Amino acid sequence: MSEKACRNCRLIVNTNLCPECKTASSSEEWVGEAIILDPKNSLIAKSMGITKPGRYALRVR
Ligand SMILES: [Zn+2]
Repeated sequence: MSEKACRNCRLIVNTNLCPECKTASSSEEWVGEAIILDPKNSLIAKSMGITKPGRYALRVR
């Protein structure tokens, strides 16, 4: 099963329902991957608006 990314928060998930934002809108068409370990000290996390650690897609279609 391929991984998907949430269209709302860009978290990489393998279900349709995102466990983080509870949005049932995930896409198989995403590119790039950012592993955020420490959102408070990550420029990537800040620019993406991420507040929780996890794996995120850089772009979701
Ligand atoms: Zn989400």
